[in-house]
Amino acid sequence: MKPIFRTFGVLLCAAQLLIVSAAEPLSPAEQAMLQSIHARTLQGHVSFLAADSMEGRDTPSRGLDIAADYIASQFRRYGLQPAAGDTYFQNAAFVKAKQPMDQFSFLLTAGDGQFRADAAHTAVSAEGAFSLSEATPVKIALSAESSALPAAAEVAGKAVVLLPGELRGRALYEKRAAVQALKPAVLVVAGQAFMMREQLREAGSGTPRPPVVTISDQAFAALAAKIDGSSKLTISIQAPVEEPVALKNVAAILPGSDPTLSKTFLILSAHYDHTGVNPRAEGDKINNGANDDASGVATVLAIAEALSSSPQKPKRSILFITYFGEEKGLLGSRYYAAHPLVPLAQTAGNLNFEHMGRTDDNEGSRTGKLTATGFDYTTLGQDLTEAAKLTGIETWKHERNSDGFFGSSDNQSLANAGVPAITLSVSYIFPDYHRPGDHWDKIDYANMERVVRTSALAAARVANAAQEPHWVESNPRTAGYHKSWQQLHGVH
Ligand SMILES: [Zn+2]
Repeated sequence: MKPIFRTFGVLLCAAQLLIVSAAEPLSPAEQAMLQSIHARTLQGHVSFLAADSMEGRDTPSRGLDIAADYIASQFRRYGLQPAAGDTYFQNAAFVKAKQPMDQFSFLLTAGDGQFRADAAHTAVSAEGAFSLSEATPVKIALSAESSALPAAAEVAGKAVVLLPGELRGRALYEKRAAVQALKPAVLVVAGQAFMMREQLREAGSGTPRPPVVTISDQAFAALAAKIDGSSKLTISIQAPVEEPVALKNVAAILPGSDPTLSKTFLILSAHYDHTGVNPRAEGDKINNGANDDASGVATVLAIAEALSSSPQKPKRSILFITYFGEEKGLLGSRYYAAHPLVPLAQTAGNLNFEHMGRTDDNEGSRTGKLTATGFDYTTLGQDLTEAAKLTGIETWKHERNSDGFFGSSDNQSLANAGVPAITLSVSYIFPDYHRPGDHWDKIDYANMERVVRTSALAAARVANAAQEPHWVESNPRTAGYHKSWQQLHGVH
């Protein structure tokens, strides 16, 4: 089986290249479909979703729920099938957890030193009460030279202290998650303690993860560096106070027109949440999130309307989905990947949309241009470039951000599951990003009409192609995703 599959893969790649070099011109049906997408429709969606009355669509909030109702009402108007049984709402039971710190205690002894953590410099993430008395901690010290983790057997059930060295931000987050996956009893991190007053997580999501204690105090890091076999750690953590929260993704299906290909799906997605109201911000304090990501939602809606009203329906089925909680850590898309509405193994690809409206990128004008994260990770980048040529748009790969931002949006959740998934956008960072100034009237709707038409054409062509999108194996960054794809499809 294996060698045949490999040969097959190579042949398919060659075939794909041929298709790319001889682009099918726009058919009259495609032309009509694209022309049904209008700047004013996009403006209507964005101006509603980003209105002040939506209060920045925080997860959870009343504004978010109103946005969900709006999106569902549009799906209903296009005559799309509800994707979650008889409803467009994929309901997700979450809890909002607050960590009380009044009984928190933490004492490390190492060498002849002692460190007692105080609540002000400590962040705790726990799913239940936890205590440990005079345990011998296991130290993991990372450095520029060595970021390897010990074997699971050395870590499982132990009190682990992680010294992350130079790791910061996402790299630290990922390393921390990797240590957590080794199932320590508790994980203590010497690092920046983000004071998350509340955490959102899925209710009753199986085995609780080990508690994580993050301490931002140089004295702790210095003492932790001295941890050896005679060191002792005592910790007491209270159970979080939990309150149920009802969240929902909003999803609809356009059934495919081909008897075989219709069993596979293309996902078109965007996140409908934003960051809510920031009491410390200037002006009206409402982070409207017009470009981020009402513009993406408007893109999904406009393509849904165009494809569903076209007399020539795509051959593959299309799942249109807008997610909650992207800004809180890809919550909605992670929930979706864990509870897919259509089988992941039958999900051919995912085009996710972010920042589709503004052309005034911090680095300069992006008029007439469209980019994507993971631009050359999957064949979807080629499909996009092909559609752009036919619609007079220039596609391009951003030197840093196309790779760097791959994990920064909801495509990541599907990619982790193996599905070829990228995020399309006009700009990366723009003035007013995550600020009250991200208003609907700053969007270039004439340009948006052009790039949404390009996106609609790319989507339609992917949905009609006999060959499914795939990960570009020659790109080393896709190795993990391709492996997941193989697992998903039962090939090795
Ligand atoms: Zn966004």
